[in-house]
Amino acid sequence: MPDSSVQGRTNGGLADLVMKAMQAKLVGIPRKIADFHIDEDGEWVAELECGHEHQVRHNPPWTINPWITTPQGRLEHLDRDLPCSDCCLAQQAETDRT
Ligand SMILES: [Zn+2]
Repeated sequence: MPDSSVQGRTNGGLADLVMKAMQAKLVGIPRKIADFHIDEDGEWVAELECGHEHQVRHNPPWTINPWITTPQGRLEHLDRDLPCSDCCLAQQAETDRT
């Protein structure tokens, strides 16, 4: 679903648009977690509602996601938002084309 509210608005100016795009690139677009599975590397992967998949590592001190290691933690994160960088890239490619 294309986000027409972003493309149609001009009141922020170009600098504002660029800033927003950069922020979006950093954090990703929030998508709900639909399910989890373990990939061939033995890492947990979150399956997002958009169809993309993202590894969720618990690898302290760099990546802290202790919840991914417990069944209850994963259950609690179902339906929660995870920033999807793939969606950002897809949306940016879409914006570049138009
Ligand atoms: Zn996505």
